[in-house]
Amino acid sequence: MANPVLPSSGVLSPLGLDAVRISPGFWGDRAALNREVTIAHCQEWMERTGWIGNFRGQRPRRGREFSDSEIYKLLEAMAWADHPALPELAETVARAQEGDGYLNTRWSGSRYTDLEWGHELYCYGHLIQAGVARLRTHGEDTLTRTAVRAADHVCRRFMEGTQTDGHPVIEMALVELYRVTGAERYLEMARRFVARRGLPSLGEIHLGRAYFQDDVPVRQAQAFRGHAVRALYLACGAVDVAVETGDEELLKAVESQWERTVARRTHLTGGMGSRHAGESFGDDYELPPDRAYSETCAGIASIMLSHRLLLATGDARYADLAERTLHNVLATGVALDGRSFSYVNPLAVRVPAETPDGMVSHAAEGGPRSPWFDVSCCPSNIARTLASVAAYVATSSGDGVRIDQYTPSEISHGGLRLRVETGYPWTGTVRVRVLEGGAGRISLRVPVWASSATLTSSPGESRAVAPGYAGAEREWRPGDELVLELPMEPRWTYPDRRVDALRGCVAVERGPLVYCAEAAGDEPPLAEVAVRPGSALTERTGGEVVELETEAVLGASAASAWPYGSAPDGWHGSHGAGPGAALRLIPYHRWGNRGPATMRVWLPVAGEPSG
Ligand SMILES: [Zn+2]
Repeated sequence: MANPVLPSSGVLSPLGLDAVRISPGFWGDRAALNREVTIAHCQEWMERTGWIGNFRGQRPRRGREFSDSEIYKLLEAMAWADHPALPELAETVARAQEGDGYLNTRWSGSRYTDLEWGHELYCYGHLIQAGVARLRTHGEDTLTRTAVRAADHVCRRFMEGTQTDGHPVIEMALVELYRVTGAERYLEMARRFVARRGLPSLGEIHLGRAYFQDDVPVRQAQAFRGHAVRALYLACGAVDVAVETGDEELLKAVESQWERTVARRTHLTGGMGSRHAGESFGDDYELPPDRAYSETCAGIASIMLSHRLLLATGDARYADLAERTLHNVLATGVALDGRSFSYVNPLAVRVPAETPDGMVSHAAEGGPRSPWFDVSCCPSNIARTLASVAAYVATSSGDGVRIDQYTPSEISHGGLRLRVETGYPWTGTVRVRVLEGGAGRISLRVPVWASSATLTSSPGESRAVAPGYAGAEREWRPGDELVLELPMEPRWTYPDRRVDALRGCVAVERGPLVYCAEAAGDEPPLAEVAVRPGSALTERTGGEVVELETEAVLGASAASAWPYGSAPDGWHGSHGAGPGAALRLIPYHRWGNRGPATMRVWLPVAGEPSG
């Protein structure tokens, strides 16, 4: 079964890329652009930067110590997309592998001398994930043999002892290799890697052990902390180990860490990571919009984790967060032309910056998207995720089919064949048409934000449905339909009062999409914009995309010598009474596609002191 995650048990089973075919629509269009443009774009840059040349033995070696992993993520994308460039690239990689399975273009000759920062096991993790993707879509070949030899080398070298890697990912990769091959040593190696972390297993570093989650054992942690991508990849591996070994305590521990992190350390977009220092989570309620890190890879890792927890528990809250993160982080991470990418995804950008045409530092402050980065983890991560995005659409609940994410698609399972027709996320009607009949339950997810949804399961029989899953069970005949109507009225959204950085601000959402104000060209700047929550949000449709408009007040203060005073500055009061102007709001994922721009998701409330 072509699927990135195939647990042997759980409340739900994934339906893979064979069972779910996505057609033109929000995700189908992005998957097609990825296959036709982004994958080749990534390969061109990996050649240009010499990162592929490293496998051909070029000297001096080029790129950062973990650049091998980008080639592996690209190979995974190619495997899911059945891309014709895969065999040749896989041969190039295979020729660099040493006799005992060791494979790394940076550390060959000085193996495992810096587990904290060396990323050797991290690189294997991505190689193994690529191998698993190839095994499940094609069968054994050069790539899969290379991955298995590397995994066997890891088991021989690391099964005994206390060592682990500074960057998790090998844990979930080894569990998946166990799932596809049945070889128990891979599961046992993954279990040991998860158990060793936090004992501690790694050396002291200047960022502290929490940076790589080596401060406390996984099952004792309270929330995700430290480097966001590391924390979320580790949690994925811990869920995989828990599911395969029946470790309920470990699964519960990750669930409660997820719960606390979502409640206190997650941006409105679903993005994770609040600090540029250490690319890390912040403290509870530390969620600054302008300094949000929200790395694209952390969003992808969060989607991977939500998917695993959904499969294990069947709880709709995991599919809800996946939907939010898919539409507002993954979709934001790549430009509409598929050729430039964001590394950080702040919720406010104060200064317009030119679109770069060359490689930039990954630590860029969140200006426009870039075609490549010195640390280019995000583009290839986007490529492999869009190439396998059909995996998130539907699951099997044993008694039938559950549809978790809405996009035009065809779903086949247990004799049933369904066509999902929808203009989601622009329109709220999801029509499920039975093409081939059979007995069973068809369930649809009612998103947590959908307070007044209705489901029509037979002509003329419409009922209100609450957030969670709703559906019908019967003997389905070709031509039968289920129609879910989701309320798509735009909503004003307020932050928790404990989020200091957002106090006095509101945001706008519609369906699963977060909206933002953007000022490009000679449009009025956003520095002193303010809105009146509760006022009308008018829809403006240009093509398929729904934009919004609301009344706003735009200030223009004189410069002051000192931005503090002994009395409230009165700005809000005066503007509360000021004349209105129309403020255009666009889906956040579309910002930065019109040239240099400023942007903000959170908008100050007019007429209220912001302190
Ligand atoms: Zn990244």
